[in-house]
Amino acid sequence: MSFREPARAADEPGSPVDFPPVANGIDYLVSVVDLLKGEQGAVSPRQLKYAVLHLQAATEVLLKYRLFLEHWTLVLQNLDVTRASKNKKMTRDFFDSGDVISCTPQETVERLRSVVGLDISDREQEQILDLAKLRNALQHYALTDRKGIIESRIAEVLDFLIRFLDDSLLPKLEPAHRDEVTDDMENIRYGLTRIRSFVQQRMERLKDQLVSHEGHTLQCPDCRQWALLAGNPSSCLFCPATTDPQLTAWNYAGNILRLPWRSPPPTNDQFSQPSTPPVDPCPDCGAETLVRGALTAAAPERPTSFCFSCATAFTDLCEICSQPFRAVDEQSVCGNCLSLGSED
Ligand SMILES: [Zn+2]
Ligand SMILES: [Zn+2]
Ligand SMILES: [Zn+2]
Repeated sequence: MSFREPARAADEPGSPVDFPPVANGIDYLVSVVDLLKGEQGAVSPRQLKYAVLHLQAATEVLLKYRLFLEHWTLVLQNLDVTRASKNKKMTRDFFDSGDVISCTPQETVERLRSVVGLDISDREQEQILDLAKLRNALQHYALTDRKGIIESRIAEVLDFLIRFLDDSLLPKLEPAHRDEVTDDMENIRYGLTRIRSFVQQRMERLKDQLVSHEGHTLQCPDCRQWALLAGNPSSCLFCPATTDPQLTAWNYAGNILRLPWRSPPPTNDQFSQPSTPPVDPCPDCGAETLVRGALTAAAPERPTSFCFSCATAFTDLCEICSQPFRAVDEQSVCGNCLSLGSED
């Protein structure tokens, strides 16, 4: 990525902000909504692929350009290293020649938040970084066409980018340049509405199937829709994906709740133990598929401990050991603690 052209003009104090990177990013977004129109209502795998690639390209160019407006060095991964020579110090001339290694998507978002002070939520940061992963998956593996995943992910990031353009980038352009992108921005907004309604219509059709299963319907770790029916195996009606309960529990804990894997206790052993997924044994079925903090469609505001094998939400915690358990006859102590108590 090079900002050579705009870099020069924007460099002069008080000079108007240069336009090409913004126009370029918006052009990619127009392409995204065009690709997702499909042909006769059907979007081909190839169109989906290019929609993701172009959305990723737009995200990169627009976010990095905002960093660049703050200061050109913010776009760099490392001030001490140029691309051609590891021993040369970075200078503005190197930067303008394009001889730079620019920062990663994660660094870009973190700098926009912490240095520029933009209001980007944790959730939005995750969505942007997930897009980069989706792009990598598309480039390195043939992504099977699971209708819906890509559209709903694209809608999330597109929604963020429109707000980012409106709040943080377009106000910095000269009015004449802002006018030039008005039509394109309208086009993109309309495209987002259409993509959203595609997702909503599909969810609407699934409603009847899901309504009687609210107690074990959760947010799908793949498509992010509330269409995952937990069980053995668990299946998402939206993607559609079928997975074994353990993998679903791990993916849910990692992708939806963002729980980190647990590191092993420190030992003097030279072979360190691998870290373990953030799941616990189920008090009912014993499977290692209990996820703490899960939300079901039956009570989307109230975190429970949910077992992905027996598809049960445990809302009661034992008064003594604080472990989730199934309360029978309004007892407040789990079976374990009850039997320990009776031994005394
Ligand atoms: Zn799904
Ligand atoms: Zn269970
Ligand atoms: Zn207990």
